[in-house]
Amino acid sequence: MYVDSHCHLSFPDFTDRMPEVLAAMHAAGVPRALTICTTLEEFEQVHALAMRHAELWCSVGVHPDNEGVAEPTLEDLTRRASRPRVVAIGETGLDYYRLNGRSVHDMAWQRDRFRVHIRAARATGLPLIIHTRSASQDTLDILREEGGGAMRGVFHCFTETQAVADAALELGFHISFSGILTFRNAADLREVARQVPLERCLIETDSPYLAPAPHRGKTNQPAYVVHVAAELARLKGLGADEVAAATTRNFERLFNLPEGLTP
Ligand SMILES: [Zn+2]
Ligand SMILES: [Zn+2]
Repeated sequence: MYVDSHCHLSFPDFTDRMPEVLAAMHAAGVPRALTICTTLEEFEQVHALAMRHAELWCSVGVHPDNEGVAEPTLEDLTRRASRPRVVAIGETGLDYYRLNGRSVHDMAWQRDRFRVHIRAARATGLPLIIHTRSASQDTLDILREEGGGAMRGVFHCFTETQAVADAALELGFHISFSGILTFRNAADLREVARQVPLERCLIETDSPYLAPAPHRGKTNQPAYVVHVAAELARLKGLGADEVAAATTRNFERLFNLPEGLTP
């Protein structure tokens, strides 16, 4: 049994397709997924999915790329995080990939938003889901400043270097690998995946984006996480069943879910 630790089932790609998506999950041996919140505006919709479907849990947070949306306060995040089936704070972090003519200095609003999420994670005891792109040093620095030495969470859709992976592991985080592992140009990432201890690995799809081979270019869906697991197993010289069991156990422990629960 596999778990998709990061997907966006509230996105329009899935609006009329949930029965089909859930059926495909069960057929592929993926009975559980964590659907991720990216704005406060979409939170009710994300949360409703987790309430309606026994297969799903959800997070609360505002993605660093989202501008012109409601800015979360500590109070907003902690209040929403207390709702049933909310198991994480995020996705949050820093993304300097598209600065649109601005400098890193101008992105203070992202750093402020990230700090609010870290404080919410500390206040609620929930793990953090970290998105970091072209901003790993600031991400790590802010986690160290705000984290108080007791952080739990995951660097999701990991695409950074071994040094960043080591720093994240040192801080107590898990590392989640996506379908990018199967992309032809991801040799460096595959090397990192070989090195990250299995007991700190998660797998995800980041649906609807980043469909793994052999579905590359299509709309991704949680059922396809089996292809991420297969690649991780190949890289580590393990059976897919071992990777499935370990990443499921890691998921259950990180997000405080009942172990061995299959809806
Ligand atoms: Zn992300
Ligand atoms: Zn995401």
